[in-house]
Formats: sequence, structure tokens, C-alpha cells
Amino acid sequence: MMRQYELVEKVAAYKPELDEALLNRAYVYAMQKHGSQKRASGDPYFSHPLEVAAILTEMHLDEATIAVALLHDTIEDTDATRKEIDHLFGPKIGQLVEGLTKLKRLDLVSKKAAQAENLRKLLLAIADDIRVLLVKLADRLHNMRTLGPMAPEKRARIAQETMDIYAPLAGRMGMQDMRDELEQLSFRHLNLDAFETITARLAELKDRHAETIAAIERDLTAKLKENGIQATVSGRQKTAYSVFSKMQRKALSLEQLSDIFGFRVIVDGEEACYRTLGIVHRSWPMVPGRFKDYISTPKQNDYRSLHTTIVGPSRQRVELQIRTRAMHEVAEYGVAAHAVYKDRAASGAVHLSKDSNAYGWLRRTIELLASGDNPEEFLEHTKLELFQDQVFCFTPKGRLIALPRGATPIDFAYAVHSEVGDACVGCKIDGRIMPVVTELANGDEVEVITAKGQTPPQAWENIAVTGKARAAIRRAARTQIRKQYSGIGQQILERTFARAGKAFSRDALKPLLGKLGHREIEDALAAVGRGELKSTDVLRAAFPDFQESRVTKAMERAEDEGWFNLRTAAGMIFRMPGRARVKPRRNGNAIPIRGAGDDMPVRFGPDGAVPGDRIVGIIEPGKGITIYPIQSPALTAYDDEPERWIDVRWDIDEAMSERFPARIVLSAKNEPGSLAEIAETIAVNDANIHNLSMVSTAPDFTKMIIDVEVWDIQHLNQTLRQLRAKSCVADVTRVNG
Ligand code: MN
Repeated sequence: MMRQYELVEKVAAYKPELDEALLNRAYVYAMQKHGSQKRASGDPYFSHPLEVAAILTEMHLDEATIAVALLHDTIEDTDATRKEIDHLFGPKIGQLVEGLTKLKRLDLVSKKAAQAENLRKLLLAIADDIRVLLVKLADRLHNMRTLGPMAPEKRARIAQETMDIYAPLAGRMGMQDMRDELEQLSFRHLNLDAFETITARLAELKDRHAETIAAIERDLTAKLKENGIQATVSGRQKTAYSVFSKMQRKALSLEQLSDIFGFRVIVDGEEACYRTLGIVHRSWPMVPGRFKDYISTPKQNDYRSLHTTIVGPSRQRVELQIRTRAMHEVAEYGVAAHAVYKDRAASGAVHLSKDSNAYGWLRRTIELLASGDNPEEFLEHTKLELFQDQVFCFTPKGRLIALPRGATPIDFAYAVHSEVGDACVGCKIDGRIMPVVTELANGDEVEVITAKGQTPPQAWENIAVTGKARAAIRRAARTQIRKQYSGIGQQILERTFARAGKAFSRDALKPLLGKLGHREIEDALAAVGRGELKSTDVLRAAFPDFQESRVTKAMERAEDEGWFNLRTAAGMIFRMPGRARVKPRRNGNAIPIRGAGDDMPVRFGPDGAVPGDRIVGIIEPGKGITIYPIQSPALTAYDDEPERWIDVRWDIDEAMSERFPARIVLSAKNEPGSLAEIAETIAVNDANIHNLSMVSTAPDFTKMIIDVEVWDIQHLNQTLRQLRAKSCVADVTRVNG
């Protein structure tokens, strides 16, 4: 294992005025935190962050990055906290380490190829500092180098993920060596047979052509010298993986591949590159169509070089890359090299402050990364905008869901599945219950809380941003409305049939559908509910010989006189068979109760009562009747006066369009906007606040009593559920409920 001073020396070698103390502190802290933890190989865990740091020293990165590399697994795997790291190393390093902790979640996600592009984008979106990505890539490289002791399935999964996500990412960042090594290592774990066959074959070819290749190298070096060009010529061989992927891509055998050998010529200055090219082309025949000038037109990742392929003396093709030292560094280390070069030139020191050229360059590079290296630049830039407009979130099982920026958990629920969206009643974000109106952020893990038989509130249509969610909410509302109409239709038909002395069943409608002009039973019922189809017409269709009685005729007349539908603010629809029933009520009261007698005033007890509650009336001499829910503790006061108790029940019919009082007690966190959020939740649920009073206030919580008005017990419970899902609500219950 590398010693503390060895690491410091490595950094000092390229950065003389480094902050040694920072590196020392990070070394000691990470070593202590990882303590006796072991890797799968049995090595001390600390050897891993140390090696990751060493990889980054090879890229000549600043000591902050090296420190972050040492600390990168501490928050996730030890008892270290962000707070502690902030305190010891400053908030910037704390933020970087936390960035890596966030990225680590990606490793737990099951990666499917289809997700790869999104995952790369997510990686870029989360890592708002390039150093986070650099440490992540170094981390992955070291993990790949030490994959051996893992279980085979785990090895395969990590190797596949590296191939799908990290190797291409390294490539897009211009880090060619990193990419090559990641691919080679992954290839070995994913396809050992192919890896070994190709590796052996490449070694054999190298032996066979060793002499000619060496001759070309000598020749070229000599010629360049004659022409006064200072050059470093090095032979290079394609990696097994690049050969393999080329074989796959072009459906070629290994023997058919021609450009397995290559040279890299590194010279001083652009001018020398073109002169070298001239010498090469005059000395050996070039292969037409293989010459590329990436100096005058660099690749999107800023790669610059001249490429050409020549035919050597043994008719072996040889590829040449001609570039300057600076171009070479960028090709090797990409983003990292640029950071070093630009800044070193400017100030002699390496750092990545926001103001430095390097940072600006990195920003631009990140933008380019997102656009990929596809030649169709315009297309790519369109994509880039898309990507900036996106937010990437996970299901608890690790499925990645890409949504437009501004999306809410409602959109997320519908993106998972329409049924999940329809049944959504709340959500957890990163394990915390949050309002469904929360705007999602990159990397959020969203758990949708569902309840059976739920219909999304119509107000959600305005909260959702995705077309899918909006359409589904509208559709659900329509379905719900149809269901209500068909329910009403069924009741009407049941009554009509009963009065005619006939039994009604939905199935009896089936053979009549054609006659009635509807395809589905549900549609026919809804048509009756809407008043488009007369119930007596259905009766006649079912029993053509039926003799109409006075009663049916009267009913028909009533229908002709015009039934009308009421729609509540909640969107519930009630059909009113006959206006006369609206007012006055039988008991002359606004409260629809049966059993109280017609002329007794009726009122609710202090805690209210709603349809669905079992209720009882208490006679108040000289005043009237007070209604209590049967569970109300206030009733114990009347235990000894059974004569004051009267049986009452709700007299709710379809015509009802009133709300009923219920008292709730709520503890809210004292944070800005919590009262507004509570009021809004109640309003969004179509309940009213009749009265609100503060009971007590503590420094962090306020207890309040709210008298709400709701349609019925289900509506009350739904409102309570929605309130409970709010982060600002600590507790909410019905009083005496
Ligand atoms: Mn790690």
C-alpha cells in the first residue's frame, strides 16, 4: 500500500506548491474511517481509495481532487458525515464527496442497455463538478482492475455496466487511455474466450511482423531526423477489444482486419505535423480514403491529430497518428489534461476555480459531452437542449425514469404506469413523505403511495407537466363521471322495473343493447343516468308486451318534465328525479335526517357528523335535536336519560349537494408557508374550511382545530390522508372520529 509521503511526493512532482496538509489530513481521515474494513480480495479497504487517488495523480490533478478520491467512499461506507467532512476539509470538498455518494446510487441500479444513454446523462447532470466525474471514473477503473475476487454474476454485471456507461463516458470526455483500459477489462470479464483468442492472435501477428514494423519505425525516425523534425515515434497495437468490436461491426474475421498495427508520431507544433505527413506519404503508399485531418477540424471532444494508413513492405497496413505533445495529452487524459495545461500556462499552478479558463473549458466540454460525438452536430445540439430539460429519477427498484424538468411525482407515477398514476394518493422522495406537487430533482428516488379505487383529483391536471399524466387524469375523470352516471342509471332502472313488478339485472340489458343503440352495458346505463335514454324505454324494450300502469305512466311523465343532473364542485354527478324533492325537506331542516320528526329543529353537535357516520339524535328540551356520531364521547353525558335518545339516520339521496361539518385537529410544523399548504390541500380536495383556531403554539409546532365541511366520510378520510402526506403536517386526526 502506498505510504502517505509517497502520495504527497507524486503530487508534488507535478505541482510543487501543493497544499500538503490537505492531502495528509485526507489520507489519515480516510484510513481511520475505513479502519479494519476489507475488500472482497481481503485487502484493507483503504487500499482502494488510495489507488483511486494514485490513478488521478497520473492525470496530474489538483490536490482537492486527490483528497476527494481518498474520501470518496467515506460517507457511503463509514460513519463519516458530510458535516464532519465540511468541518475538516471545507464545504467544497464536502460537496464533491457528497456528489460521489450520490453517484454511487447508480451502481445499485440494474442497468439495461436501453438505460445506458439516460444513465450517462444522469451522471453528467448530477456531477455538477467535473472532478466528481473524474474521481468516479478512476474509482470504476480501480474496481475493474480488482474485479477478480467477486462472484461471477456480480463481475458480469459490473463489467457490462462499465462497457455500457463508463467506458463510453470516458471516451466522450476524451480520455482515450481510460476508455481503452475500461473496455479491455470489461471485455475480459464478459467474453473471456474471445478475449483470450484475440489476445493470442494479436501476439502472434506481432511476432510475425515484428521485423517489418521495426524497420518502418527505424526508417521513419531517420527520415524525420534528416528533415530536421524532432519526433518521438512509438509503435502501438490495437487492443483486443477494439479489434473484437471492429470484427463485430464490420462482420470481418481477424485475418481480414488490416490496421492492427500503428505508430504514433509526436512532434513539436502543428506545422511539423503536416510536414511529417508529407514525408510519410512520399515514403510509403497511402491507403486512399483513410486520411483524416482532425487538426483543422477537431472532433467534438477536442481530439486533434492527423490520421493516415500506409502499406508497408510486407503489405501489412500500418496506421499512423501524427500530433503535437499538447494534442497527445488531451487525447490521453482529455478533460483532465486540459485542466492542467490551460491553467499551468496561465499561472503555473493547477486549480479548478470557477473563474479559471480551465473551468470554462470544462463547462463547454461537459456540454459537448452531452451532445455526444455523432457527426450530425445540429441534431446533437437539439438533443443537448432536451437533456438540459430533463430530470432523471428512480423507482425504489432502480428503474430510471426520465421526465421533463419541472415534473412532479404525479408525472412520475403516470410514467411508471397509468394504473399507478390513477391510484396515486401521495409519494415519498428519498424515503421522506413529500407533497405530490414537489418538483423532482435529478437522482430522486420516488416511491408512489397508492390506494385502491382512487381517482386522481381533477386539480392534478394543472399540476402535472407531462402529456401522458394530463391525458390520463382527464381520462380518469371521464371514466369516473361515466361510472357515476351509470350508477345513477342503474338505480333509476331498478326503481322503474320494480314499480312495474319486474326484476332488473345488468345482464338482462345485454340482449337489448342493439335495440337501445349502445355497445356496452355501462354506456346504456350511463345514458339512462344522463337522461338521454328513458328508463321506460328500457323497460319496454325488455318487456314489449308489458301493459303500462298508471304508475309507470306517471314516472314517464316525470321524466318528460325534465330530470336534471347536478354536478358538485368535486365533479360528482347526481341526477335529480323530480324537482319537488329538492325543497322543502321533509323535516323542514337543512340537515337531511330521517327519524327526527318534521317540525323539530335539528343541528349538529360541536364535532359535526358526516354521511357515513352512524348517528344518533339527542333531544334538547325546547331547542330541538342535536346530532352526534355514535362514537362521540359527549354522548356519555346522556347515558342515564335513554328517553332523550332518538334513532335517526341519514336521508341522503342523489340530489344532495351539500357539505357536512367535521372537526379535525392538526399539528403543523412551524415553517414558512405551512398554513398556506394546509389550506391549499384542503381546497384542492374540494373540502371547505369553516373555521380554524390555534390551540397552542410551541417553538416548532402549532396545534390547530379546523372545522371542515366535506361531502361524506370517504371525502373526509381522503382529505385527512392528503393532509397527512404533507411534510409540514406532523399529525392530523378527526376529533371524536
Ligand atoms: Mn469506491
